[in-house]
Amino acid sequence: MTDRRFDVIVIGGGHAGAEAAAAAARVGALTALVTHRFDTIGAMSCNPAIGGLGKGHLVREIDALDGLMGRVADAGGIQFRLLNRRKGPAVRGPRAQADRKLYAAAMQAALTATENLTIVEGEADDLEIRDGHVTGLLMADGRRFVSGTIVLTTGTFLRGLIHIGERTIPAGRMGEGPSVGIAASLERASFALGRLKTGTPPRLDGRTIDWNGLTAQPGDEPPVPFSTLTDRITTPQILCHITRTVPASHDVIRENIKRSPMYSGRIDSRGPRYCPSIEDKIVRFGDRDGHQIFLEPEGLDTHRVYPNGISTGLPEEVQAAFLKTIPGLERARIEQPGYAIEYDHIDPRELFATLETKRVGGLYLAGQINGTTGYEEAAAQGLLAGLNAALAAGGGEGITIGRDEGYLGVMVDDLVTRGTSEPYRMFTSRAEYRLSLRADNADQRLTPLGTRAGCVGRGRREAFAAKMAALAAARERVASVSLTPGEARKHGLAINQDGVRRSGLDLLAYADIDFVRISSIWPELNDISPAISEQVEIEALYAVYMARQQADIDAFRRDEGVSIPVDFDFAALPGLSNEIRTKLETVRPGTLGHAARIDGMTPAALGILLVHVKKESTRVSAA
Ligand code: FAD
Repeated sequence: MTDRRFDVIVIGGGHAGAEAAAAAARVGALTALVTHRFDTIGAMSCNPAIGGLGKGHLVREIDALDGLMGRVADAGGIQFRLLNRRKGPAVRGPRAQADRKLYAAAMQAALTATENLTIVEGEADDLEIRDGHVTGLLMADGRRFVSGTIVLTTGTFLRGLIHIGERTIPAGRMGEGPSVGIAASLERASFALGRLKTGTPPRLDGRTIDWNGLTAQPGDEPPVPFSTLTDRITTPQILCHITRTVPASHDVIRENIKRSPMYSGRIDSRGPRYCPSIEDKIVRFGDRDGHQIFLEPEGLDTHRVYPNGISTGLPEEVQAAFLKTIPGLERARIEQPGYAIEYDHIDPRELFATLETKRVGGLYLAGQINGTTGYEEAAAQGLLAGLNAALAAGGGEGITIGRDEGYLGVMVDDLVTRGTSEPYRMFTSRAEYRLSLRADNADQRLTPLGTRAGCVGRGRREAFAAKMAALAAARERVASVSLTPGEARKHGLAINQDGVRRSGLDLLAYADIDFVRISSIWPELNDISPAISEQVEIEALYAVYMARQQADIDAFRRDEGVSIPVDFDFAALPGLSNEIRTKLETVRPGTLGHAARIDGMTPAALGILLVHVKKESTRVSAA
């Protein structure tokens, strides 16, 4: 039997793998998605929710590049909320509680319907690498697949080890075996593997929760979809509820703290700082009288509830004991205990900003394997890695996304420049240009780029063109109406009486004047659709700040425009400290701007680098 040949092989059908496979196939590459089981594609290992602060921006960016996560979350979402609604539009985060089954089914259906994509069930066991380039994949059952481009997205499975109190179970997540062969294969290729950990709370039987007296939390009405291609949400919407730990819960946890693997010395790898276990919360913020718990239903046709906020590695009987102290959970039955999990990851400084490894050509990494945490972080990297793998397979240049273009660019740049010592998650505070990187304008930032790269399908291209035309027409109409300060006063608007006429756009720049207000003055603007008028309103509000930010973006782009050749000899640079030279050799920055962002880089070192990069490029162009 001859070995099957693919342009791109993606290993792992988690959040990263699904987007990677779909992106590669959209570009036209003959793609295989190799994963343990078809029915775990789209599985949410931890919380049944997509989006949130910073993460919601990533989902919108995935959607802008025609990825799947936004549309799938719209199909499976059972409670949608725009977080930070009272703050400025730049830091608002769309989030949806998802029905686990509906989400996974929608993801499986989307992949099944993707042209150029074959889904292969089984265990990937060994990467074939020849002369520093990947050439194929060996499966545990002996099958062999040939490809010069492989995207590895094994999540928490690389030598995964679950801890529940003193008990340990080798597993990638509960009920699924770890991935050992691939970890060995990476070690043989001399990749430095590190260890990280994460955790998850116990799952509860909702029929045994006393809902009376708990605070109900409704979603937004109407729910706002993630995807610009979704007209409206049709899934029934549910309520979540809120309870809190109390001092008695903390006492139980404190008394048993030595039985937690994080405090008994069994786990010494780092966990996600911003998603701490309940034992971490008690040890670090013990003086608080309670920690909030969101009780999130896992779906429409299940009683199972996910108590968000009490991830734990304590023994099951201790979990049961502290749950009994929590209002509403006194009688709650545990359906699956919480657990902590340790897994291998690779130092992301091993990667170029295309997510190809520097060590092995044609090998791309995406998702939790790169030291990130979260479905959205994984999916966004997956899309970029799959896209670049397909472009490389077709003999083209890879693409990178700048820090000024997307949260995806910020995340990848952070990872490849600084590495990670703890699981990396996205936050709006990580982005320096957040006024322009908003969730509401992800399509304007990235759909044209995705279109040029070939990963945006016709339906989205047409919808985007129609939206941009409507937006341009609306901007023009709002700019064309105007009034004097005296007329503004008659309409009850508090405007300086300075004699200067103001257009509709000028008025929208005032924080207390919205589109509803100006269309009450000019009713002819009423026919502009709410989606478009909201966009005009946000753009006008930020126009002045954006003009100021542009100078910073221009300076950033100037430095990003100075490329450093891939084979540049950093070791030969004179006059640098050993520390800086080592950092440059480890990160191997692709641009001057990238070099400037390395921790500890000095202006003097950058000056030396710039002079030598210029010399090198003059030498190359003269040759
Ligand atoms: P995964 O979703 O893990 O998918 C990996 C896929 O690869 C699986 O389908 C697996 O079957 C497949 N696979 C692996 N090895 C092989 C192989 N050799 N051959 C074939 N297939 C293979 N994130 C948060 O943001 N907050 C949290 O609180 C949080 N808690 C978590 C708790 C637990 C217990 C776990 C397990 C994860 C948690 N996460 C959390 C992380 C979140 O689940 C991941 O970030 C996300 O799922 C990563 O996506 P991924 O695509 O990289 O990998």
